[in-house]
Amino acid sequence: MKNTNVLISGASVAGPALAYWLHRHGFTPTIVERAPALRDGGYAVDFRGRAHLSILRRMGILADVERAATGMGSMSYVNDAGKPLARMPADLFSGDIEILRGDLAGILFDATKEHTEYVFGDSITSLAEDEHGVSVTFERAAPRRFDLVIGADGLHSVTRRLAFGPEERFVRHLGVYCAIFTTANHLGLDHTGHVYRTADRLVSMYSARHNTEAKACFYFGSPVLGLDRKDVARQQAVLVEHFAGNGWQSDRLLHDMRFAPDFYFDSVGQVHMDGWSRGRVALVGDAAYCPSSLSGMGSGLALVGAYVLAGELAAAHGDHRVAFARYERELREYVAGCQKLGDGVAKIMMPSNRLLLAFLNRYYKLLPYLPGKNIPAIMGRRAAENITPRDYEDLLSGGRGR
Ligand SMILES: Cc1cc2nc3c(=O)[nH]c(=O)nc-3n(C[C@H](O)[C@H](O)[C@H](O)COP(=O)(O)OP(=O)(O)OC[C@H]3O[C@@H](n4cnc5c(N)ncnc54)[C@H](O)[C@@H]3O)c2cc1C
Repeated sequence: MKNTNVLISGASVAGPALAYWLHRHGFTPTIVERAPALRDGGYAVDFRGRAHLSILRRMGILADVERAATGMGSMSYVNDAGKPLARMPADLFSGDIEILRGDLAGILFDATKEHTEYVFGDSITSLAEDEHGVSVTFERAAPRRFDLVIGADGLHSVTRRLAFGPEERFVRHLGVYCAIFTTANHLGLDHTGHVYRTADRLVSMYSARHNTEAKACFYFGSPVLGLDRKDVARQQAVLVEHFAGNGWQSDRLLHDMRFAPDFYFDSVGQVHMDGWSRGRVALVGDAAYCPSSLSGMGSGLALVGAYVLAGELAAAHGDHRVAFARYERELREYVAGCQKLGDGVAKIMMPSNRLLLAFLNRYYKLLPYLPGKNIPAIMGRRAAENITPRDYEDLLSGGRGR
């Protein structure tokens, strides 16, 4: 096996999942994560369909993920007074298993910590590739050499910027901004959530950690605002501009957001790239092909991508040129399906005018009684299942099984 010494940037979903499979195939992974420690909690992410579940099972963590699942039920669209207008089935929002992103990252960390060197509180600052490897410098640690470098550092990937170019070339804004934070479950939501929509704006609240707290979400349609991602005060001011007096729980949640321990604000975007590798550097998960936070596909895609990338590296005996090309070939169509779904959800979730909003509200109300009531969930499942991951261990053992 060649190129066994692999640096991964990012310790969320794609990074640790990749480290897990690389180790299992005989590589030595190191992960550098910018956050000073594993980030706890966060918003809910989900897995749906055979491909996602089979990989979790092969990793031996399916039971852990199931144990930590949020156990969410259906979600309701409500009016200004909080009266339910329509109920949406659980699997539409939560897939087969829904889990807080931080809890998932914790499970993946536990599954990899023995065989992976984790470096927290640091970030890659430069990559210089030559025939035999990559020289990497960091913000804090001393420079090091690696055979390969993989960026699993999300939508705003630094690895992508360093190896491929500025973010603007690859991140496509879907016309929506999103804010999410933890708050008190003052509505007493019991494994459920409420969604309140007006034209171009959406506010929702769902219970978390078995009703002991809740997540508040704000979405609004807007062209790119060019806000500084670190300027929380400005971001919160923008939310107030859009949502003050908007009805339902908007004002209460705008008040509570000032005390939130984990305020998150970002534009909703997708990543589109002609190629996911350049020389000895490749990208995985949101860094390479983010389908958007609205698609409900990001964590599953990150998991599948990591599995395929590690498997192809092993199948090519570490020859990165062969492996990176096969990784793309295996995944392109799957990614396209997930991104198409993300695009569609953005348009439906944030109707741009009142007429469309009124139509959709009526449609959702009638949906439980319509023959096509399961179509939205089926479309999500189809996109998630549109790949049959190869059994790389079986392949590597010449079909003799494990
Ligand atoms: C609000 C919101 C709601 C979402 N809802 C869902 C959902 O319902 N279902 C779903 O499947 N997905 C959802 N997603 C998407 C999902 O979270 C991502 O698609 C998934 O986490 C992708 O994993 P990743 O590891 O590729 O990237 P990320 O989870 O973004 O992780 C990137 C990691 O890299 C680290 N990092 C960043 N920069 C650096 C650096 N310079 N150096 C080192 N480390 C760095 C970050 O700290 C982070 O740990 C949602 C996302 C958001 C934002």
